[in-house]
Amino acid sequence: MENLIITVATTGAVTTRRDSPYLPITPQEIADSVYEAWQAGAAVAHIHVRDQDGNPSMDYAAFAETVKLIRERCDIVLNLTSSGGLNLREEDRLRVCELEPELVSFDAGSMNFGGSVFLNPPDFLERLAQKAQECNVKPEIEVFEAGMIANALQVAKKGWTKPPFYFQFVLGVPGGMPATPKNLLFLSESIPAGSPWSAIGIGKHQLEMNMMAIAMGGHVRVGMEDNVYYRKGELARTNAQFVERIVRLASEFGRQIATPDEARELLGLRKNKQGGCMA
Ligand code: ZN
Repeated sequence: MENLIITVATTGAVTTRRDSPYLPITPQEIADSVYEAWQAGAAVAHIHVRDQDGNPSMDYAAFAETVKLIRERCDIVLNLTSSGGLNLREEDRLRVCELEPELVSFDAGSMNFGGSVFLNPPDFLERLAQKAQECNVKPEIEVFEAGMIANALQVAKKGWTKPPFYFQFVLGVPGGMPATPKNLLFLSESIPAGSPWSAIGIGKHQLEMNMMAIAMGGHVRVGMEDNVYYRKGELARTNAQFVERIVRLASEFGRQIATPDEARELLGLRKNKQGGCMA
């Protein structure tokens, strides 16, 4: 099997300090948390930012500051969100590509999301894919339900993103597909052969989906964006704790952990610091 790519999602848009007092929120806290996770074995960091009050935000300056603080300290692959909340301005969602991360999240369709609606209409997806291509950033295709695979391939057909397509299966969001082994198997068999994929389980499903993905040859995402509990009733104190656990479990399976450069190779990313965005 390929070496295992561990993505750490330190913060997200939904988790709050009420959920966990350990949630990193400021650019410095997020960068510190990413650095610890990188030391523990994470190859990719999926980044969201918050405003002064800790609310979800697409503030460009906060992204820029966070990216700078991370790049000063380590070579982790950067994956910036294009969906730092609901009801965002489209231009703010697209603009993160100008920071030249290697990956940008590409939520491949609209859906109910808890009590709200998460909007990713076809014309927005085309513009996001186009913007990512202009900036030499690869879309990480986030799939919350099976139809989103077809949506993403429809956009790919227009030439705005090239193989290998990288899929992130997000299971267990209320409104999306439940986190079950059957659903993960179905999704993994529904993408073009040879495409790298990774799995996220929300909340108590995080570890189950991680374990399945490790055994099936997929990759994994962990972190407080998806789950704040290390085990039932016990909050994780750091994002690195989740990464350390995956490293231990993967080694029992005999799967090596991918370095950031190996992740770049496996996902078909440009080499670090070779951005092409002139915007
Ligand atoms: Zn996210």
